[in-house]
Amino acid sequence: MQKNDLVTVEIVDMGTNGEGIGKIDGYTLFIKDAVIGDVAEVKIMKAKKNYGYARLMSVIKPSEYRVKSPVCPFARKCGGCQIQEMEYERQLQFKEDKVKGNLIRIGGIKEERLLEVMEPIIGMEYPFAYRNKAQFPFGTDKNGRPVTGFYAGRTHDIIANTDCALGVSVNKKILDIVLGFMKDNGIHSYDEKSGKGLIRHVLIRYGFVTKEIMVCMVINGRQIPHVSALVEVLKEVEGMTSITVSPNTRRTNVIMGDRYEVLWGEPFITDYIGEVKYQISPLSFYQVNPVQTEKLYRLALDYAELKGEETVWDLYCGIGTISLFLAKKAKQVYGVEIVPQAVEDARNNAEINGIVNAEFFEGKAEEVLPEYYRRYAEEHGGEKAYADVVVVDPPRKGCEERLLRTIVEMEAERIVYVSCDSATLARDVKYLRGEGYEVERVRAVDQFPHTVHVESIVLLSKLHTKQSIEAELEMSEMDLTVAESKAIYDNLISVPSFKTKSKRKIRE
Ligand code: SAH
Repeated sequence: MQKNDLVTVEIVDMGTNGEGIGKIDGYTLFIKDAVIGDVAEVKIMKAKKNYGYARLMSVIKPSEYRVKSPVCPFARKCGGCQIQEMEYERQLQFKEDKVKGNLIRIGGIKEERLLEVMEPIIGMEYPFAYRNKAQFPFGTDKNGRPVTGFYAGRTHDIIANTDCALGVSVNKKILDIVLGFMKDNGIHSYDEKSGKGLIRHVLIRYGFVTKEIMVCMVINGRQIPHVSALVEVLKEVEGMTSITVSPNTRRTNVIMGDRYEVLWGEPFITDYIGEVKYQISPLSFYQVNPVQTEKLYRLALDYAELKGEETVWDLYCGIGTISLFLAKKAKQVYGVEIVPQAVEDARNNAEINGIVNAEFFEGKAEEVLPEYYRRYAEEHGGEKAYADVVVVDPPRKGCEERLLRTIVEMEAERIVYVSCDSATLARDVKYLRGEGYEVERVRAVDQFPHTVHVESIVLLSKLHTKQSIEAELEMSEMDLTVAESKAIYDNLISVPSFKTKSKRKIRE
């Protein structure tokens, strides 16, 4: 196989980045935009000894999973979506398989066991217009006119499109107003290469429940000339609540500046997840898919099995979203988050919801928790700090081992692991399984339809060998058939079972 060769290949698998995988006489080809089941003509772009990368030139026989006409005309070019050309049901299967595969291969969980504890992926009924936030980069077209849209995959070339199918419809209205204002007033887009030009990005947020809208103009300078003319038009958009400007004159890829100023209205919008209210400022982190987030948090609550007496830690808590969701059902929640502004938001969100049993610590989870554990013992004559439930929701790199070690030392009954990267999740699950925990429930949630990202949630419970035997005795009181109780008992002996699982079996 050599560069520029044209070959015909059937796509038999998919890689973790959504690319199609084809095989020719044992040689593996990775082909972006090819859908599993396609027969395609591809051009070799890079050839290594045993594998290569190829470009999709034409689809000879389309896969049964290939969408005939994608909702977005830029689906293939745009870097925002990776798998929009594959049917949604098949996307869900791809994501579920990815989580499953990682938990088996990296997490070391036996397939039969995983199939027992894994529940079906939660997808969206309508997997479009789901994002409550978008940050549109601005650029200039060949004719010198300002444009906005999304970056093409892996480059910073802007694909002009104000009507992204994953975003809300009001985005287009706002972007068209901004573009019109720029043309009328001769205001230029920022140019990354020269560092010149003013408008860098426009951030739009939309509260799905409250219908409040926020617009934040990110600029390469201190102010926007004739800005009042822009504000006059923008504030007439129904739902407009907050118009701000965030200066960012650094020559970096970081989108937002460090601060923002209010041009009109409030410094934040308000929205709800379930009954919990959140105030969201331009710089706050907030989950982008509110419909799926609520489903995910309800699962976290369900997995935590709170009765009202528990002490819960929510590590990597962001603005306290999960913490506040759990606080209503727990005795005390402690949140830990590294970003100071987010901790401030978390405290404020607790206050506006009248939640008094949630306390937030600023710092690295892997430092704050071990330090708390050490200090607690010091101050309590060697007594161990204890947690009933620990929730972790780390960024892609997962948890540091010293954090996991402390969680184990604290003898948390249940660990609810929310993850945006199932590979690091599986690595951490493996560690915890080696330290006396077992996976009891697993579920993937599709927070980002049409992209290759998938969120997953896992419940790990502390093994209680002794209590398992007790559970078995309780079971025999429940009129189980001899065979049934023997099967369960055998299971308890061969694989040390754990408290809550056995309890659940009894309940069923
Ligand atoms: N649980 C929150 C946020 C999850 S995103 C929610 O559902 O909204 C992960 C969060 O971890 C981010 O807010 C990020 O700032 C924070 N973070 C990253 N590294 C961290 C660390 N070492 N210690 C604590 N928080 C960290």
